Amino acid sequence: MSKNLTKRSEDYSKWYNELVVKADLAENSAVRGCMVIKPYGYAIWEKMQAELDKKFKETGHQNAYFPLFVPKSLFEAEEKNAEGFAKECAVVTHYRLKTDPEDASKLIVDPNAKLEEELIVRPTSEAIIWSTYKGWIQSYRDLPLLINQWANVVRWEMRTRLFLRTAEFLWQEGHTAHATKQEAIAETEQMNNIYADFAENFMAIPVIKGRKTESERFAGAEDTYCIEALMQDGKALQAGTSHFLGQNFAKAFDVKFTSKEGKLDYVWATSWGVSTRLMGALIMTHSDDNGLVLPPNLAPIQVVIVPIYKGEDQLDQISIVANELVMDLRSKGVSVKFDNRDTHRPGAKFAQYELQGVPLRIAIGPKDLEKGTVELARRDTLTKQFVEKDQVIDTVVSLLSEIQESLHQKATKFRDEHITEVTTFDEFKNVLEVKGGFISAHWDGSAEIEQKIKEITKATIRCIPFDGKEENGVCVYSGNPSKIRVLFAKAY
Ligand code: AMP
Repeated sequence: MSKNLTKRSEDYSKWYNELVVKADLAENSAVRGCMVIKPYGYAIWEKMQAELDKKFKETGHQNAYFPLFVPKSLFEAEEKNAEGFAKECAVVTHYRLKTDPEDASKLIVDPNAKLEEELIVRPTSEAIIWSTYKGWIQSYRDLPLLINQWANVVRWEMRTRLFLRTAEFLWQEGHTAHATKQEAIAETEQMNNIYADFAENFMAIPVIKGRKTESERFAGAEDTYCIEALMQDGKALQAGTSHFLGQNFAKAFDVKFTSKEGKLDYVWATSWGVSTRLMGALIMTHSDDNGLVLPPNLAPIQVVIVPIYKGEDQLDQISIVANELVMDLRSKGVSVKFDNRDTHRPGAKFAQYELQGVPLRIAIGPKDLEKGTVELARRDTLTKQFVEKDQVIDTVVSLLSEIQESLHQKATKFRDEHITEVTTFDEFKNVLEVKGGFISAHWDGSAEIEQKIKEITKATIRCIPFDGKEENGVCVYSGNPSKIRVLFAKAY
């Protein structure tokens, strides 16, 4: 595995692409805009899935599965949603191929196999799910309905990047139905909070919780809440969204319920999702010029043991110590690998695990056997220490939680240092140009001004933070009065 990555300071985007490929996370495929997620990358995604799935179930949600295809008539039913996604839909028009009469080695679409109704490959599943909910919901006793789906979706994105923006991506989408508006809003908040908690405490990624402006809102939603993260190059990344859908989908699909009081009313809805984009967030929050840096919670291998030996006798002796450590670490819930391959030299193994972000590396050589020690190296700080053999287990366990904590602190410090308050538009442009990050500025609430600022600077309003304090100010562009600051940034 060749190691040398482009430096982040030279070309951040190149560094990212090289890292994804060289750390064996994913690669481009034969299909435009679609990626192959490789076993090591998929193992990290599975860790994210497992933790999120646990959190969803703890809050009463159940998993289900709905079709990949949405008949066009259903897709059209909620107009705003349909209009919003129309430009990026893949559409199935035929169901059969046949041999080309002019070239028997080729296949062509059989014109006699045209579908009566076209099928949309789901870009999101509200339509198919709400058309199903119509049959599931009649009374208040059927509510709330708390469903999540793990699936793939397709959005025909024009400019794609591995993990960050792909034409097909993996995600989970929650779709809930409620008897009251308050309950649906509480669910929207709860799920946004679950995403934030997951990002901060599991992925060690600091996020800002807030609401989207009308122009950034999900098509068909009344309100979109989000978590926004900041990448090392000063660009923001939308890491998760939670939508309050009002009664829009219930009206589109005629989903009504009889209340306790015997009144007929439309059902209230939410939807929420995070995707494989989180892999991009993970990489661009913690990694360095030597490769991936993984918070222990997400590391498929938390500790790797590398033997340093000459000849089989030495390997046998080292293996006794190593295997004992493997057993003891596993019994503490630590995932550990003893890399005793004789096809690779220790230096090559070190380089590989550094590139792949394994949080801790233990090296054991003949000198260690004599002294009863091992060499323990941290991936995040690249520091090494010698540890007495009987202290290894305790040291590893405490270092793993220390690394998790320290990555979160480091990323939070960086993020906090990259939130800049500005008052004038000149300052705005200057900060964006020189420093990047989030710009906290007053905005008068008009979509026109938001658009104007976007045209001039490429920065968008990432969110109106929930923890923002009311203060009297003037819009950074129009000079109109404003009561609250919003966060602008260039974004992925
Ligand atoms: P949305 O349904 O648009 O609210 O998106 C749900 C989640 O998927 C958000 O966290 C988005 O950031 C993410 N997402 C949207 N488009 C893509 C894409 N093309 N590739 C990967 N993730 C995406």
